[in-house]
Amino acid sequence: MSAPSDDLMDYADVIARFEPVLGMEVHVELNTATKMFCGCPTEFGAEPNTQVCPVCLGLPGSLPVVNEKAIESAIRIGLALNCSITPWGRFARKNYFYPDQPKNYQISQYDEPIATEGHLDVVLDDGSVFRVEIERAHMEEDTGKSLHVGGATGRIHGASHSLLDYNRAGVPLIEIVTKPITGSGERAPEVARAYVTALRQVLQSLEISDVKMEQGSLRCDANVSLMDIGAKEFGTRTETKNVNSLKSVEIAVRFEMRRQAARLVAGKTIVQETRHFHEADGSTSQGRVKETAEDYRYFPEPDLEPVAPDADWVERLRTTIPEYPWLRRGRIQADWELSDEVMRDLVNAGALDLIIATVDAGAPVNEARSWWVAYLTEKAKEREVSLEDLPITPAQVAEVIKLVESKTVNNKVAKQVVDFVLAGAGSPAEIVEAKGLGMVSDDSALQTEIEKALAANPDIADRIRSGKVQAAGKIVGDVMKATRGQADAARVRELVLAACG
Ligand code: ADP
Ligand code: MG
Ligand code: ZN
Repeated sequence: MSAPSDDLMDYADVIARFEPVLGMEVHVELNTATKMFCGCPTEFGAEPNTQVCPVCLGLPGSLPVVNEKAIESAIRIGLALNCSITPWGRFARKNYFYPDQPKNYQISQYDEPIATEGHLDVVLDDGSVFRVEIERAHMEEDTGKSLHVGGATGRIHGASHSLLDYNRAGVPLIEIVTKPITGSGERAPEVARAYVTALRQVLQSLEISDVKMEQGSLRCDANVSLMDIGAKEFGTRTETKNVNSLKSVEIAVRFEMRRQAARLVAGKTIVQETRHFHEADGSTSQGRVKETAEDYRYFPEPDLEPVAPDADWVERLRTTIPEYPWLRRGRIQADWELSDEVMRDLVNAGALDLIIATVDAGAPVNEARSWWVAYLTEKAKEREVSLEDLPITPAQVAEVIKLVESKTVNNKVAKQVVDFVLAGAGSPAEIVEAKGLGMVSDDSALQTEIEKALAANPDIADRIRSGKVQAAGKIVGDVMKATRGQADAARVRELVLAACG
């Protein structure tokens, strides 16, 4: 339910009177095959309560064991955000009761997080760079999910009963928390959106999560407060939870700034509380009053060993951190001499990374581009999937391009080869071999077909002989048909003219 009674101040007036302070908390679900502390699978969308065991259900006597891959991902995130990686840190129990939290505590990290003190330089819409300081990134486990049934809104309010699904309980999460972001002024909503956008791209480039905001594998909470311009002390913040699209991040921050400003000038106070975001009208409404750290009774987790990554491992992982995606895109745009518009189209079509990977696999830029934006885009549309989800890899596309270059197949047959790859028939080379799709490049085989075609069309043969070279088209067509399109049409034409010369 939205809150129609909230007074909102005009944005320009907010900016004239107040300075916003932001704090972004982003939770990212890792794409490890198994959960944080047990061997249960993590796949999204399974039947409720089919991916559970005594550990993630918190049954008495069960003991957690940490997932090494999750620690590796956490370290790589920390490194990508220019953080220091702790040489030794313990997990902590965060105690609270919640029905979707089977142990009555969450294993998290408290004062000894894996990564601390970093920053991310975010490019804003006008090209300027805004540095966001990172306070920490820490590991924790996800909760299960409650489904509130029988009400109009799907919220607990008005529901007749609730169902619980523990499949998600224990999925590895990394929470990335910024320091208070000051100095963004009027651009605070944009900075918030640009930060989450950049962070999402970085996480994607690390290949540690599928970062799907709509599926909840990337979740963002936006803390907002206002203070008088020039004030030293921050105002009281609210925390708008689970803002699940990039655009919503901007809308939610802007709404909170306008709402808080209206309250402050009316002499009302801001309560430190969580707030719900409403996608439909871009408003926020009151959630629960915020717990403080003391409420959680944090203490070191006695069932787990401390995390103590050795320095060599951290340095090895440092070498796996890719260039920031926006820097890489800028470099590629310059190298390939693409206009801003072409570049934007490639990015929006989800084709850029695939094209880059195809070029990396040895294909020329133009061929790689043309396959992905034309034929494969068409195939993706037919199947209603994204380009990335087509069952063909950039390396396979590069292989098809090589087959054309080496005249093993012509362009038309290349498309058939791609169709076979998409149908799961194997690699391009295997398909050409198995289906006998290789070009008929043997002149004597072609000559036999040409003689047959000329004999079958004596009048056309005469016309060609009398110098009407356009007439050769019909013979070339017949030969192409006879070879099931697998001949080089230009070569056939040469041979036809030679035969009639
Ligand atoms: P919590 O446990 O309440 O979620 P966290 O420390 O995890 O607290 O996150 C709080 C976030 O809000 C951090 O990003 C922090 O920098 C930011 N923050 C702290 N104080 C303020 C404030 N007064 N106004 C805006 N943001 C704040
Ligand atoms: Mg928090
Ligand atoms: Zn389990």
